[in-house]
Amino acid sequence: MILILGGTGEARELAARVPAISSLAGRVSSPRLPVGEVRVGGFGGVAGLASWLQDNDIHAVVDATHPFARQITANAFEACTQVGVPFLILRRPGFAAVEGWRWVDSVADAARDLPGSRVFLTTGRQDLAEFASCPQWFLARMVEPPEPPMPHRIEVLLSRGPFTVDGELSLMRSRSIDVLVTKDSGGSMTSAKLEAAQQLGIPVVIVRRPPLPPASTVATVDEAVSWLDTAGA
Ligand code: NAP
Repeated sequence: MILILGGTGEARELAARVPAISSLAGRVSSPRLPVGEVRVGGFGGVAGLASWLQDNDIHAVVDATHPFARQITANAFEACTQVGVPFLILRRPGFAAVEGWRWVDSVADAARDLPGSRVFLTTGRQDLAEFASCPQWFLARMVEPPEPPMPHRIEVLLSRGPFTVDGELSLMRSRSIDVLVTKDSGGSMTSAKLEAAQQLGIPVVIVRRPPLPPASTVATVDEAVSWLDTAGA
């Protein structure tokens, strides 16, 4: 049996192509579910995941989590190494970079010296606290309602992609946005805001991806299917 660590479109695509158990963290109240068997919730760190892999007779693990889900990827690499289960990371490519973007190493760095006063923030609800003491006004878009701490001057927009360039242009114009802050998530579902920011001449502050563990890594679902074939899983 194969375990797919999910929470992304690529994980759902892979689950439609190979028989597998998909695992979700359980952060979203009504997630888009993959086909096939699904389990929800944490494993209990590296030790919990290592035991779960053995108890469920898992022959290969594909980590298709979000590029910024750093902990689960590190845990899965460690657990698979410990119990000798083949491990693959499936990561979509980052956004096609545009000259002039301000690249930063963390969301905390993005919150320093923001080059604008009306910020379109799409880094997700878990990172909102980093902006809590910023004086700027924020339009913060996310899937689930946030909890404090968060910026004092904020409009929260609950929404899930995909988004269109026309939709993003009209949203940014309607709120007089003058800076976009986002993560290098990659993919087509959320790239429209970057195109819209470019058209409007709005500066972009973008958070670099965290480093990956030294595991086999592919960029597409097709490559993951081939790797599983080769691994005999
Ligand atoms: P994280 O910081 O890497 O993980 C924190 C803990 O959540 C992990 O140690 C693990 O708990 C549990 N966990 C995470 N992903 C899991 C999964 N697929 N199945 C079972 N347990 C999981 O992750 P995160 O940034 O909070 O993201 C949570 C999930 O949301 C990820 O699966 C990711 O694909 C999805 N997501 C994240 C983002 C983002 O920007 N971070 C955006 C979109 C979707 P235990 O230690 O108890 O096993």
